[in-house]
Amino acid sequence: MLLHRIEEVREKIKQWKKEGLSVGLVPTMGALHAGHLSLIKKAKETCDKVVVSDFVNPIQFGPSEDFDKYPRTLDADVNLCENEGVDIVFAPSANEMYGEGQRLSNDILTYVCPPFFYVNTLCGKSRTGHFDGVCTVVLKLFNIVQPEYAFFGQKDAQQVIIIKKMVKDLNVPIQIIQCPIVREDTGLALSSRNKYLSEDGKKDALVLSKILNNIKSCYKNGITDVDALKETAYNFLTDKHDMEYLEIVDKNTLENKTKADNNSIALIACRVEKVRLIDNIYLE
Ligand code: AMP
Repeated sequence: MLLHRIEEVREKIKQWKKEGLSVGLVPTMGALHAGHLSLIKKAKETCDKVVVSDFVNPIQFGPSEDFDKYPRTLDADVNLCENEGVDIVFAPSANEMYGEGQRLSNDILTYVCPPFFYVNTLCGKSRTGHFDGVCTVVLKLFNIVQPEYAFFGQKDAQQVIIIKKMVKDLNVPIQIIQCPIVREDTGLALSSRNKYLSEDGKKDALVLSKILNNIKSCYKNGITDVDALKETAYNFLTDKHDMEYLEIVDKNTLENKTKADNNSIALIACRVEKVRLIDNIYLE
C-alpha cells in the first residue's frame, strides 16, 4: 500500500499496535535495488508488518550535491515492495515532512546533531551537515512509524554507527538491525548512484572493492600497520580514480588506529566519472 501522508501512516500503525503486531522500518531514498531488498527481506523475517520509507531527503544533501538528479523510480519501487510483501511504502513529499514553504535549514527547523567527532570524519569531512540531515529524517521516521525494529545496511557504515549512537543517546526504544553489503558478482557494492556510471565507469569502480579486499588479505597475512595497509591501495589507482579517503578505524567507535585488529573496518570513498562511491570491509 502506497501512502503519502503522515496521518495515514499513523492511522495504520495504531491499528497494528492494537492487534499486538510488531513493526519494522526500512528507511530508503528509493531507486531500490537488491541491497535494499535484502534489508526488506530481513525485516519480513523479523517483524509482523514492514514499512519501507521512500524519500529523497533534501536536508541530507549539500548545495552542490546530486539532490536534483538523484534517481526517482517510485512506481518500480512500489512494485518491488509489493513483490516482497511490504505492508506500507511511505513516500511523503518534502512539504509533508518539513512543512509547507518551510526553509530547510537549522535556523528554522529542529535538527538532530550527532557529536562532532562522529560527523567530522570520513564522509562527514566532505559532506558538511549530511549526518545531521540523516539523523533528523531518521528520527522523524522513527516517530511517525514507531517501529520496534529498523534496518540499515553496512554499506553506509558510518551512517549506521551514528544512528546507533543517536538511538542510545536519545533513549529511542528501537532495535537497530545492521545488514551485510550486497554486491554484484564483480564485487561492486550495489548503490543507487551506480546508475550514474557508464559501463567503463563500472569497471573502474571495481577498484574500491579490490583495494578493500587486498587490505583484508594483507591483514590476514600478518600486516597490521595501518599506514602500510593503506599504502597498498596505490597499486590499484589510476587517473580514472579520484580518491577522497581510505581509512582503517574501529568498527564500533570510528576511532583511528595505528595497528589494525579484528575490530577494524577499512572504509573508502572514491570518485569515478565524478560519481562519489563508498565501500567498506571488516578486517576480521
Ligand atoms: P539509500 O536508499 O541509499 O539511502 O539506502 C537505504 C538503506 O539501504 C541504507 O541503510 C543503506 O545502507 C542500505 N543499502 C544501500 N546499498 C546497500 C547494499 N549494497 N547492501 C546492503 N544495504 C544497502
